[in-house]
Amino acid sequence: MRVLLLSDIHANLVALEAVLRRTPAYDAVWCLGDVVGYGPAPNECVARLRGLGALTLAGNHDVAAIGNAPLEVFRSGARLALEWTRRVLTPESKAWLAALEPKRILPEHHLTLVHASPRDALWEYIENEHVASENFPHFETDMAFFGHTHQPIAYRLRETEKILRTAILPESKPLPLEPKLLLNPGSVGQPRDGDPRAAFALFDTETQFITPYRMEYDIAAVQRAMANANLPHRLIARLAQGA
Ligand code: ZN
Repeated sequence: MRVLLLSDIHANLVALEAVLRRTPAYDAVWCLGDVVGYGPAPNECVARLRGLGALTLAGNHDVAAIGNAPLEVFRSGARLALEWTRRVLTPESKAWLAALEPKRILPEHHLTLVHASPRDALWEYIENEHVASENFPHFETDMAFFGHTHQPIAYRLRETEKILRTAILPESKPLPLEPKLLLNPGSVGQPRDGDPRAAFALFDTETQFITPYRMEYDIAAVQRAMANANLPHRLIARLAQGA
């Protein structure tokens, strides 16, 4: 099975559609959370994943957007966007988001899926080797996939290896999944590694290889939609910077 591995879509429908339409054949879609927040199309992104039957986790923005986490813990731009998201989410979208969990264990694939970290599935940022090393004892499976930091990266137990953020098709190099591994496919809708293109990965469950990808999308169209929704300027600007 070829799995399209997504995370941190953040209501960026244009980026999501580019990835869904232009990625070579895949059999399933998994999303590691933060479907909404920041971006201008939360209901549309929910509907798209729902229509695909995507295995989707809850992210901290998803939880906050439906009123199950306080907005005070977010920085001002994120908080303003979440207040807007709360206003526009339909009851159907809220119900779908409310049913998501921040962690799923898939024993058949030797995998743990989390939004943030195995130790704290909703909030902890795995931003360095130290935090990564502290998280290895917190999952039993060979591998764990995580999101939340918007940085495509892999941490191996003992040795650390970064996925080249510039790796794109056809140059992109498949990475063998050898235990024990923590891996983040990066963010579809708001990359923060200096490359504004949507980040995601294809995971082949038979060969146990994962291939990171980047894909261009119409950033200006998303920025216009954000401006029309009166979303914060800083959030609009950062999309073009990938920061
Ligand atoms: Zn996020």
